[in-house]
Amino acid sequence: MRAIIAADIETGKHGGAVVTRFPPEPNGFLHIGHAKSICLNFGAAADHDGVTHLRFDDTNPETEDELYVRSIQEDVRWLGFDWGDHLYFASDYFERLYQYAMEFIEAGLAYVDSSSEEEIRDCRGTVTEPGRPTAYRDRSVAENLDLFRRMSEGEFADGAHVLRAKIDLASPNMLMRDPVFYRIRHADHYRTGGDWCIYPLYDFTHCLSDSIEGITHSVCTLEFDNNRQLYDWILDHVDVPRPQPRQYEFARLNVEYTLLSKRNLLRLVQDEYVDGWDDPRMPTIAGMRRRGVPAAALRAFCDMIGVAKTENRVDYAKLEYAIRDELNPTAPRVMCVLRPLKLVVDNFGEGEFEELDAPYFPDDIGKEGSRLVPFTRELLIERDDFEEDPPKGFRRLVPGGEVRLRYGYVVRCVDVVKDEDGVITEVHCTYDPETRGGSAPDGRKVQGTIHWVSAPHSVPAEVRLYDRLFSVPDPEDVEEGEDFTAHLNPESFAILADARVELSVASDPPDTTYQFERTGYFVQDAVDSKSDHLVFNRVVTLRDSWAKVLRVAASGAAGARAESEPSQSEDGSSTKSEDTKRPLASPRPEDPGAASRYDGLREKHRLAESEASVLAQDVGLLALFEEGSKHTADESGLAKWTVNEVPRVLEDRPVDALLFGGRELARLVELVSKGEISGRAAKDVLAVLAEQGGDPEAVIESRGLGRVSDASTLEPMIARLVEANPTQAQSYRDGQTGLMGFFVGQVMKETNGAADPEVTQSLLREALMGPGRD
Ligand code: ATP
Ligand code: MG
Repeated sequence: MRAIIAADIETGKHGGAVVTRFPPEPNGFLHIGHAKSICLNFGAAADHDGVTHLRFDDTNPETEDELYVRSIQEDVRWLGFDWGDHLYFASDYFERLYQYAMEFIEAGLAYVDSSSEEEIRDCRGTVTEPGRPTAYRDRSVAENLDLFRRMSEGEFADGAHVLRAKIDLASPNMLMRDPVFYRIRHADHYRTGGDWCIYPLYDFTHCLSDSIEGITHSVCTLEFDNNRQLYDWILDHVDVPRPQPRQYEFARLNVEYTLLSKRNLLRLVQDEYVDGWDDPRMPTIAGMRRRGVPAAALRAFCDMIGVAKTENRVDYAKLEYAIRDELNPTAPRVMCVLRPLKLVVDNFGEGEFEELDAPYFPDDIGKEGSRLVPFTRELLIERDDFEEDPPKGFRRLVPGGEVRLRYGYVVRCVDVVKDEDGVITEVHCTYDPETRGGSAPDGRKVQGTIHWVSAPHSVPAEVRLYDRLFSVPDPEDVEEGEDFTAHLNPESFAILADARVELSVASDPPDTTYQFERTGYFVQDAVDSKSDHLVFNRVVTLRDSWAKVLRVAASGAAGARAESEPSQSEDGSSTKSEDTKRPLASPRPEDPGAASRYDGLREKHRLAESEASVLAQDVGLLALFEEGSKHTADESGLAKWTVNEVPRVLEDRPVDALLFGGRELARLVELVSKGEISGRAAKDVLAVLAEQGGDPEAVIESRGLGRVSDASTLEPMIARLVEANPTQAQSYRDGQTGLMGFFVGQVMKETNGAADPEVTQSLLREALMGPGRD
């Protein structure tokens, strides 16, 4: 894009001017794909002191609305772009477009076709067959002018006539086979009201609007590739200023685990799968803003992914990376306990109170500022940070053990209080006054550090955790008869109602984005948070495998993971900041050794770019993957788990410190792909394997994790079984209900006993009785 513009400036085309436009249709909220288009159009113009127009492409009265016009302007502005005085509406050009249409008719290049939509489609031919003229193609200019005028005056019903270009019915480009320019729609337009009852179509409107506004470079997405010929044809055959604008196509952005199409997003909103366009899980700009994503992070993301000529799906982790990269140096660190457990310091006086100085930023960020954190007898810690029966490697609080309280003292657990159900209600400890600030003077080793708040001096808060809206990278990849809603992630939203945040936040500006130590980045929800009921949204978690890969890549050495500094280890014992290096533009590593590993992974194992890239640069993970690939045919699944999930359980240990190997990992991946265990449960299994070793099946068995109860896994299996056993199915329908046991047995066999019996029965009943009823 830059090169094209630079070349045009060089040759003096358009007098060296650069005028781009962003042309949304106001029929929904903008999403992250639009953000890319906005950054591209505004960015390219700004590079050359050009201007960018915001033009509403509003020629469809049925779907457009002022509400969307407002939201779109707000979103573009929030993203940091300014269209100055250049706000335009295609609907403002209706009169001029009408005049242009008359010009085409007068030149014999357009005609009124009174065929039905179906006839027109039929006559258009196919890719292998040329089109045929309808009965109206040779109407005289006078008759066409008359009919078109009467169409515009409201004399005819919707669909009675259309205005078509007269181009070439045999063109190999189907769009050139006399495309429709105008159609009749007796509908009120949100801006022009009842002024018009004929509306121009996209292809006619777009190029002429570009021309009217003096656009020089008209950027659109690849699916408009074939429309370029029509774009040029229209401008070539009408009296418009030269040189004409030119259309350039680039790949649209797709992001894993999400959908980017207003039609689908509208469906999510209308059918209430989400809580409005600005639901923080939505990939809309409004949703991301509400979630707390900084505009700068979105711009950085758009920069990072670049402009491509081929379609692909961008790794969701890149977006998260861009967000962390932005927040890490700016978000003050404070403490919030998400799931509180009372910790009583027995040797700290009742009613006593001490203030501890706590810096807002770790040293390497180079930012000043601190607050005082009250330390009292009753504290709250994270329920997860205490384990009565700790797995191997657990570095937090255990009976008799010591842990460091962040910015505070080392405490030793001396007792545990439980209620009648055996649930721990209080942990008792003693503190060592010599350890204020965290270090033990006698040099004794205290491994873990945990965060905490004072029970009486903390504020209740509701914390909302968001996860990916869909549970698969490509939500539109569905079975016959399903749609993308089948892949909605049921765990994309969780509310923690009893969180407690340190008192200092009560006096901060409400739009401060924090890093809650050890748990993630958070900001108050702009809609629901009130001073007497704080609500925090999790913007993003603290880390993922992507950040590590970059660190390895940046240090230039494959396998550097083990030596690399932890960003913030799970036990909080390190305060090193996250890496702030820029990611690589290309997934193929620069290092020659890694590049050849990358090629091997792409060719031999057919891995996706992102996974091949990670593995090629991390010899530890690569070894694990290679070992595993001997035990499963599902290499892509194995690669995904190796890249995405293993680093999570690894924390900052090297791969060879893992207590499981490739074989166990491969087995687990197989269990997931066969539907014998849910992905969620498999993650739990992986965590257990990481801490204790063992084999996946035994872990599943002992923890009862193998239950498959989600309908999307069971339904297709049940449908297959019913189909494969027609006699039994019919007998069941005829009243032999005892056969239910037979069918349940079959499902159990297929799932190795993992299917949830109740869910299975009810799905079976539906499958057996549903179609047989009528
Ligand atoms: P959707 O399919 O989401 O409705 P659209 O293309 O119909 O998108 P418009 O409002 O017409 O939405 O788009 C405005 C501009 O944004 C167009 O130039 C379009 O090419 C661009 N755009 C839309 N979606 C994407 C995307 N996913 N990636 C990049 N650019 C996009
Ligand atoms: Mg569109």
